[in-house]
Formats: sequence, C-alpha cells, structure tokens
Amino acid sequence: MTAETIFSKIISGEIQCDLIYKDDLCIAFNDIQPQAPIHILVIPLKPIVSLNEIKTEDAAILGHLLLVTKKVAKIKKLDNWRTVINTGSKAGQSVFHLHIHILGGREMTWPPG
Ligand code: AMP
Repeated sequence: MTAETIFSKIISGEIQCDLIYKDDLCIAFNDIQPQAPIHILVIPLKPIVSLNEIKTEDAAILGHLLLVTKKVAKIKKLDNWRTVINTGSKAGQSVFHLHIHILGGREMTWPPG
C-alpha cells in the first residue's frame, strides 16, 4: 500500500489544482510555489513513490510522462525548458509521489543548487 500524499489527493479530487493537462495515465498542473514563470508538475495517476521504486513494468508510463512534458511545453509555447525529478529527501523530494517538474519562461543556470 502506498501512503497517501498531497498528489494522491489531487488525483482523487479531494484537493483542487490548477489543471493544465489530463489523460488516462497522468495529469499536469501548476506548481503552487512556482520557481519560474512557468512551473508545472506532471504526475502519473499510478502512485509511484519515486524513481527509486520504478519497475520494468513502469517503462510505458515513464516514457509517456516524458512525451507529456513535451506536450505541456508546447501548450505553454516553450522552446526551452528544464525538467527536474528529485529523488529522495536529500535531493529535494518533498512529495513522495513521482513527479516531473517543468520549468520555463526564464534563463536557467547550471549547476543547480
Ligand atoms: P519536490 O520538492 O520535488 O517533491 O516537489 C514537490 C512540489 O510540489 C513543490 O514544488 C511544491 O511547491 C509542489 N506542491 C506541493 N503541494 C502542492 C499543491 N497542492 N499543488 C501544486 N503543487 C504543490
């Protein structure tokens, strides 16, 4: 059993979100604390905790999430954007339901903090 998270509550509709995109496998919505003019999260409906827990059988979902990041970037008319997946609390993961950050609308620097 996977523990309930703020994102599972968004998926169930218990918590509202600012929805950008939805299909049978995932949803994308605006981050509540944007770190860039455009900051969107793409999350699978399946409650995968993080990249640490992915299985071979998740390959199709994982590939789909990347395809959706492109779709969302196009919806937002982004030609340049950054995707981030934080894995584990020391890497900055605070919600333990896999999510891809899409950040855009400003210049990005490297390395990240
Ligand atoms: P991470 O730190 O990589 O786990 O990212 C979690 C992200 O979820 C953060 O950028 C938060 O701002 C965002 N977040 C937390 N709660 C909500 C919410 N209710 N709606 C939208 N984004 C949220």
